[in-house]
Amino acid sequence: MSAGLIEENVARVLDRIATAAAKAGRLPSEITLVGVCKYFGSEVTQWVANAGICDLGENRPQQLWEKAQSLQQYDIRWHQIGHLQRNKVRRTIPLIALLHAGDSLRLLKEVHKESLRLGQRTPVLLEVNVSGEQAKHGFEIGEMEEVLKQCVDLTGLEVRGLMAMAGLQSGLEGAKREFEELASLRERLMKVKPESVDLSELSMGMSRDYDIAIEQGATIVRVGSSLFEGLPRE
Ligand SMILES: *Cc1c(COP(=O)(O)O)cnc(C)c1O
Repeated sequence: MSAGLIEENVARVLDRIATAAAKAGRLPSEITLVGVCKYFGSEVTQWVANAGICDLGENRPQQLWEKAQSLQQYDIRWHQIGHLQRNKVRRTIPLIALLHAGDSLRLLKEVHKESLRLGQRTPVLLEVNVSGEQAKHGFEIGEMEEVLKQCVDLTGLEVRGLMAMAGLQSGLEGAKREFEELASLRERLMKVKPESVDLSELSMGMSRDYDIAIEQGATIVRVGSSLFEGLPRE
């Protein structure tokens, strides 16, 4: 029964993504839905995969490790969306398709070093603190040009774009402003960025505001709670 509930929720979210895309004159295929299953364990996560969502995100690396292990038989692309401590880089980067939370140079250097050790390049997004909230991780808007320059030497990274979270206090109007801010930052950086840095992806928007994010140009939305409506938390 709950698996059916999740299927319905997934259908509703995909529908809302299509509507928002149409409104912005975009194609739904330009937007990747990352299903955020952090509120639940492997069983419920499996239902989300069964409902056809193969990009899954976790906030805590330990939870990502566990699920990547127990859902091995699925073809899942794992996304580390929450802050990654440097001592967890080694175990996390072989498992993930994208690190959304590239939020400091110390972390990026560690990911670079460990990637070289593993003989891989790790796809990362640079997290920008657009809300200015103290508790939020991420780079300041004003330091991004310099950060991109530094990324050139970090050859273990494959920089793919930017990520942000709207402020908790921002409300929907504030969220819209912050997403606009991230999109226009991307536009500005495109003109000055080093060639080796790719800024195609914009990861922004969660359950309460993903349609607004899509209208502002999100290419990846990270949706959790909306997928689990009607299901009691574990
Ligand atoms: C939990 C989380 C989400 C999803 O949030 P919902 O409100 O449940 O959709 C998205 N991004 C990050 C970084 C998160 O930690």
